[in-house]
Amino acid sequence: MSSAITLTGPAPSEAVLTPFRSPGGHALMLGHVHPDADVLGTLLALGEALEARGWRVTYGGPHPAPAALAFLPGIERYQQLHALDGRFDVAVLTDCPNPERTEGLIDQARRAAATVVNIDHHPDNRRYGDVNWIDVSAAATGELVYELLVALGAPLTPPIATNLFTALHTDTGSFRYSNVTPRTFRTAAALVQAGADPAFVSEWLYERRAPDALRWLGAALGRVEVSDDGRVAWLILPSGSVPEKVIESEELVNYPRSVATVRVACLFREYLGQVKVSLRGKGDVDVQRIAAQFGGGGHPNAAGCTLAKPLAEATRVVLAAVRAALAAAPGARTR
Ligand code: AMP
Ligand code: MN
Ligand code: MN
Repeated sequence: MSSAITLTGPAPSEAVLTPFRSPGGHALMLGHVHPDADVLGTLLALGEALEARGWRVTYGGPHPAPAALAFLPGIERYQQLHALDGRFDVAVLTDCPNPERTEGLIDQARRAAATVVNIDHHPDNRRYGDVNWIDVSAAATGELVYELLVALGAPLTPPIATNLFTALHTDTGSFRYSNVTPRTFRTAAALVQAGADPAFVSEWLYERRAPDALRWLGAALGRVEVSDDGRVAWLILPSGSVPEKVIESEELVNYPRSVATVRVACLFREYLGQVKVSLRGKGDVDVQRIAAQFGGGGHPNAAGCTLAKPLAEATRVVLAAVRAALAAAPGARTR
């Protein structure tokens, strides 16, 4: 496609629907690094709907799906991709704000696909597609793909409903965060009506811990530190301190965030010689702007970045940026 189309409205326009109206073709569903339930659930849901219409679909991304999401219907089709093979009529990226989050696969996809469709809810989305549907008011990309399937007249099967419901569930912290709107609940209700089972999803997400997981959780929580003024709390995990599996399945940054006085919570995780930082806010400061100072991104209350620095230095510079952001935010007093 020659000229890119960008949409920000609440409903999918004809430009978003057109690539999927074809009675068949080959689609690539391309995931972002460290895929979560929002990206996987939306790719699997849209892919299943296309397959039902006679499409051939390839699912994959730079990293494999985490074991904790093994219950998502169709997840066995999602492969770790190092290079793309063949040509595609459409390459779809969901929940992926920038090309770097595909580790170069997007550049191959651009060459291999006639049309690149970018569907996302991140405010810092770079509009890298031929068609871009960016709606920052959506709590999860799952809301957008639900609306896309409805507009296409695609039947919502129980597997599709489960994938989209899980996308909503995880991106909203089980329907608890400030991104939740009436639209989120309307979408969730429709998905449950279509066969998503909330108890099944919750059980897989929260009640499948390994027998030793609580001991590791205790070890991790013992590392939480809170600033003297109570406004910042953080958790530093040197490599090897807690098993990767535990870190991947526990959303550990939510624990420092749960302290009443805390306005910004941080997780510093030493990982493959780099430091992965997760930031969470409560509406006082835009943590995405803090992450952006270090080349990262995300949402106003949930963001992240990766620093190629020693753990102690990464911790020092990010905490300094957090303190500077809080000092500049008059409303961010201890409550
Ligand atoms: P996490 O803390 O890893 O759960 O990520 C929270 C949010 O920040 C998600 O929306 C991610 O897309 C975003 N994010 C995390 N790490 C990075 C990064 N290194 N670069 C850009 N965005 C990131
Ligand atoms: Mn995601
Ligand atoms: Mn998301």
